[in-house]
Amino acid sequence: MSDCIFCKIIKGEIPSKKLYEDDDMVAFFDVNPQAPIHFLVIPKRHIPSVMETNSDDAYLLGRLLYTAQHLAQEAGCDQKGMRIVINCKEDGGQTVDHLHVHVLGGRQMDWPPG
Ligand code: AMP
Repeated sequence: MSDCIFCKIIKGEIPSKKLYEDDDMVAFFDVNPQAPIHFLVIPKRHIPSVMETNSDDAYLLGRLLYTAQHLAQEAGCDQKGMRIVINCKEDGGQTVDHLHVHVLGGRQMDWPPG
């Protein structure tokens, strides 16, 4: 989508600090980190939110989660863990309308979320 920030990151039109890229997804550090480790894993295909996925996307969704876990291990979260978050639409606090998986680590997280 032409006016989507994350699509522009995928195309290299906006700079990002990338950790990982393959044919289907990209991972890059969040520009406004909420934890010592905070990166996003996103599909290259523009999907507005997880609410717009269907059973055809099950493999992609699994790969997004697996990649998040794998990169979190590489970032040093393997012993103490991390939090994976997918915000969805208005009530979920989603601000960028391109599906993304947050990985937050390096500190103790609170529960419940605010
Ligand atoms: P959400 O509120 O779940 O939609 O999260 C969107 C996230 O994207 C926020 O944590 C932002 O800090 C992050 N973000 C927005 N623009 C950029 C950017 N250009 N590069 C990296 N992260 C970004």
